[in-house]
Formats: sequence, C-alpha cells, structure tokens
Amino acid sequence: MAPFYSEGLRFGCARCSLCCRRDPGFVFLSEEDAEALAKRLGLEYSSFLSTYCRWIPSGGGVEVLSLKEKLNYDCILWGADGCSAYEDRPLQCRTFPFWDSVVADEASWRATAEECPGMNVGKLFGRDEIERLLALRTEHPAATRTRR
Ligand code: SF4
Repeated sequence: MAPFYSEGLRFGCARCSLCCRRDPGFVFLSEEDAEALAKRLGLEYSSFLSTYCRWIPSGGGVEVLSLKEKLNYDCILWGADGCSAYEDRPLQCRTFPFWDSVVADEASWRATAEECPGMNVGKLFGRDEIERLLALRTEHPAATRTRR
C-alpha cells in the first residue's frame, strides 16, 4: 500500500523556535553531526562531547549521544540570533518533520503539525525526497556507547 505521503507533503520552517526552546527533549547526534559541530566550534572532539553533549540511557546498557540543553530547556546551541549552528545543525534537525515517527501515518503527521506552523505550508516534498530524508537517518544513526 502506498504511504499516505505518496503525493508529497509541504514543509517550510517558520523559524518560530518552538522545537528548539523551552521544552525538554533530545537532539540526538550521529558521529558526523558531532564532528561537524566540534569543527564549527573549534573544539577537539572530546572537548565538544564533554561541554555540549550528554549520554542518554536507552536500555540494555547502551547510551545515545544527545546535545545538552540549558536550564530553561533551550537547546545549548540556541543563541541571541537563533540557532548558532544552523548551517551545521544535526541531521535530526535537518530532516524534521520527515522522521519515521512523524510520517508513520496521517494521524501522526497531523498531531505533529498542531505543534509546528511550518508543516503543511511551504515547499512540496515529493515521496522520493521524503524517503531520501528518512533513509539518511537510518544511514547515519545517533552515536552510542556502552554504559560506563
Ligand atoms: S516548530 Fe516547526 S516552524 Fe517552528 S522552528 Fe520548529 S520546525 Fe520550524
């Protein structure tokens, strides 16, 4: 059966910051994400991990790499002018809202769209483009380690 998005879906980020600020959440990082951000910030990889990242338990003794957030739950990369790493933002941010969990079915898409004014407006993403973005997350999973 064809996915509900087979005719494409519209998205154009309104840069409202609702998904980057004020609510707790996780921005998981692939190895490539972390390397790009460390380079952008002029930090050694290990320094970037200890300063900007946290390891989130995900069961079975495995932990997943995520950005830290500020005490007010803003993303740690959020600055006075918005995202301070926009050009090198993590894949999780770059591929939103074309995540497996969001495009699983129309109800999930609609529920997420209630929180995001960029969904259902803007550029039309065709099925091939949506599936390319979904595949990127699979090809570049979040970095993990065994709990210490
Ligand atoms: S909530 Fe939607 S429109 Fe607002 S910043 Fe996030 S992706 Fe963009």
